[in-house]
Amino acid sequence: MSQRIHHLDSLTIDQIAAGEVIDVPASCVKELVENSLDAGATDILIEISLGGRERICVTDNGCGMGREDVIASIERYSTSKLRHIDDLERLYSKGFRGEALASIVAISHVTITSAEKSGEAQLCPATVLVAEGGQICSVVETKAPQGTTIEVASLFFNVPARRKFLKSPSKDSQDIIKTITCLALAAPHVSFRLIVDGREVISVTGESDQPLYSRIRSLLKEPFQADAFEVHHEKEGFSLCGLIADPRNARSTRSGQYLIVNGRSVSSLSISYAIKAAFGSTCDEGKHPLFALHLTLDPSVIDVNVHPQKKEVRFADEEWVRMLVQESVSEALFGKRGFSSQSSLCSSFSSPISAPEPSDDPFSSWRYVEAEEPPSLPFIIEKPHETVSSPVCLAVIGDVALIQPAKKRGASFPVPYDSLLLLDLKQTMRAVIFKELENNSQPFLTELFLIPIPFDCSVQEASMITHDLPLLEKIGFVIRPIGPQTFLIEGAAKLFLDIDLPKFIIDISYEGILSAKEAVQEARSKRLATTYVATMKGLHSPISNEIALIILDRWAHHDFPPLSPDGLPCFSQMTSVSLKEWIAKGAVLHAKRSS
Ligand code: ADP
Ligand code: MG
Repeated sequence: MSQRIHHLDSLTIDQIAAGEVIDVPASCVKELVENSLDAGATDILIEISLGGRERICVTDNGCGMGREDVIASIERYSTSKLRHIDDLERLYSKGFRGEALASIVAISHVTITSAEKSGEAQLCPATVLVAEGGQICSVVETKAPQGTTIEVASLFFNVPARRKFLKSPSKDSQDIIKTITCLALAAPHVSFRLIVDGREVISVTGESDQPLYSRIRSLLKEPFQADAFEVHHEKEGFSLCGLIADPRNARSTRSGQYLIVNGRSVSSLSISYAIKAAFGSTCDEGKHPLFALHLTLDPSVIDVNVHPQKKEVRFADEEWVRMLVQESVSEALFGKRGFSSQSSLCSSFSSPISAPEPSDDPFSSWRYVEAEEPPSLPFIIEKPHETVSSPVCLAVIGDVALIQPAKKRGASFPVPYDSLLLLDLKQTMRAVIFKELENNSQPFLTELFLIPIPFDCSVQEASMITHDLPLLEKIGFVIRPIGPQTFLIEGAAKLFLDIDLPKFIIDISYEGILSAKEAVQEARSKRLATTYVATMKGLHSPISNEIALIILDRWAHHDFPPLSPDGLPCFSQMTSVSLKEWIAKGAVLHAKRSS
């Protein structure tokens, strides 16, 4: 019988190993830029074309390498950063396994040009190494400015399986933009320039009095400007600095959370939770606040090796870190503006939106009954609104409206007049918007604005919105790019008018709602409705009476849809009989507990 087990050749081994380090073009860019940072560069230029698969070129002004080091740098497990396993604990540099260059060289065509400083001369003696698919083709001497340029062409040229699983070039470009955004946030003293297909998309310089704040503001734009909260907290062995956006900007994904731990961009669920916890009730459930924070700790208490690409971080004492983070963030949120409690921060959010226009709909004239004078008796009994021809909103409690149906009820009102209706206002708004999207879908009636709305966004957001422009147009938006990170909203579908439009556009791009492959009409409308409700101004709990009336008006206008787009009930009906049963149940429960 022939032998079935045999050794893989070294090229195959290298290609398999390379796939673990360099799985997508963005990880190649990340490794190269981290090497530049480790080399002490203060100025880094990154150029990519075709999502990085055609060309990635990183030029730095770091320490450079001599001829022997250039040759050694592309060998597997060759590194200048780690000598013993004990060094791992104290390591401050970004890369340390000595695998990145070897992996990149195994799966692409690479040219490394590197020069070490030599006297005061502008041009120093330099080495140019050309390699292809893991083999060195040539090493020649030349002259170049101090620093290193690594050019990677035809990434994955010899790994067809990997090529097949690549995303589109524009998606890969977005991932690279995100990668550079993270790296530039992590190194605010360093200048970065990113050129994507010949277009400059990031350009930030490292000189500033407050490098971290100004770096965050210039990269992440709107939510981090004047009304963001500054975090600055230092305690023995712990420091947390950066900016947190006002909770009104919170998103339904964690895409706007940037965490840098000891100079490395990582993610940590426990820190995300700690920050969310600090917001208390000011941030809606299911929402994630935006932040860009640098956490600095003794390296020995951190384990960055949890994730193979070092993206996730664990702490020796998670509880200690979590508590300090929560404390620092609370201090920034509630200490700064003199907010005495979380509820006062909350109430400052309910910015009223315009009142509904009167319409002919018999149910549209909702009334809100306000308690007048404080009663002198412990209780007062109001005269039942027997004659009213439209329903009455008796109270808004949190997100729920308590409604008394009209005596003279219309055919379609969902409950009889001798009952109470408890309406979940947010769920109802989703039901209404979903209905409007479904009824309206093609074509949307667009209203052009007299005064267009300009907005700035981060580079990554700009690239996503640019990608989504044709799809946004399909749902009634007229948007024009007027700068690399600036857009002008010139019009929107009528149904989208009473929301924070820039935030809505950014949110739906982030969530890929329009471009999702499985974006069937109905699923898309559901997600749009949810995002819409999340973006609606003033829809923070407790909902104001004014907003409640607007929601009720639209609900009536659409014939009181009873279910949310996911099939959840918008209201519960309580007849006097069921109220009595409910009270009785409470009594039974009480009796059981006390027995
Ligand atoms: P690691 O970063 O884990 O050490 P790499 O394969 O990324 O491994 O790099 C190998 C070595 O090549 C590094 O340790 C460093 O000495 C050298 N090197 C790589 N890129 C640069 C650069 N841009 N400037 C100076 N030296 C570099
Ligand atoms: Mg490295």
